[in-house]
Amino acid sequence: MKGKIVLLGTSSAVPTKERNNSSVYLKYKGEAFLFDCGEGTQRQIITADLNMYRINHIFISHLHSDHVLGLPGLIQTIDFLGEKEKLYVHGVKGTKEKGECLLKGSIYESEMETVFLEYENSNEPFVLVDKEEYQVKGISLNHVVDCFGYSFEEKPKVVFDKEKIKKLNLTDKDFINLKNKGFTEKEGKVIKLEEISTEKKGFKFTYIPDTYRTENIKKLAKNSDVLVIECTYLDEEDKAKKYKHLTLEYILEIYPLLDCKKIILTHFSRRYKNLNEFRRKIEEKGYKNILLGKDFLTIEF
Ligand SMILES: [Zn+2]
Ligand SMILES: [Zn+2]
Repeated sequence: MKGKIVLLGTSSAVPTKERNNSSVYLKYKGEAFLFDCGEGTQRQIITADLNMYRINHIFISHLHSDHVLGLPGLIQTIDFLGEKEKLYVHGVKGTKEKGECLLKGSIYESEMETVFLEYENSNEPFVLVDKEEYQVKGISLNHVVDCFGYSFEEKPKVVFDKEKIKKLNLTDKDFINLKNKGFTEKEGKVIKLEEISTEKKGFKFTYIPDTYRTENIKKLAKNSDVLVIECTYLDEEDKAKKYKHLTLEYILEIYPLLDCKKIILTHFSRRYKNLNEFRRKIEEKGYKNILLGKDFLTIEF
């Protein structure tokens, strides 16, 4: 197991007995990432037996309270018990101002530096974190305020064709050339990397929080292994349009275009006493890889 995704909150606007406000925890090897941080997120992390000190990056989708009010508590606890020098909080324009305001809401001597990083709106995916093994990208969504969706994607792995390598008698020097230049020369012949290898797609996770219909969902989420997507309403299109959220009906409509292995719905309005009607509509379509999210639902990969 390389990692896991844990839903920490699946309610929209206000928490309920069963559902906390939005947050998704992603563990990848020795690191962890948090997507949104609704009120009570640190308690959810503790209840789920997850490690909050592994979190180096928090990605905030937008500045509505159900997505950010958990920040001060969580940051102070990480600072209090950890030995972390820096914690990065990424988000839309205004995240620094609101984030610092939240941190100043109580008497607290910080040891750790919280670095707020803000990004311009973009209708094409842009890179926020670029590491040797993975990238985190963002894209603007269509909510009543500026809002980003995020994806975490492992970089493709180069898989060598062992037979061909044996035949060509490649040395360590050849492999250094292939890595740095994409080709090597052997007995006067040029051997390109793509001739002796194939690329294996890495794991991709996408988080699409509060939004109304937009092409950008597909641009970011296509080919994800796991997509966590807001589904505030069942089919109340007038409400969805007014408050800029998604309906299950729309998600089922765009389902064939997304090509995702697993889709987890979240951010349900508390107007629904149960989600039976959601379940029925999904079953009617026969889409077995759409799951109704609930707090602490865990997907390992
Ligand atoms: Zn929300
Ligand atoms: Zn919102």
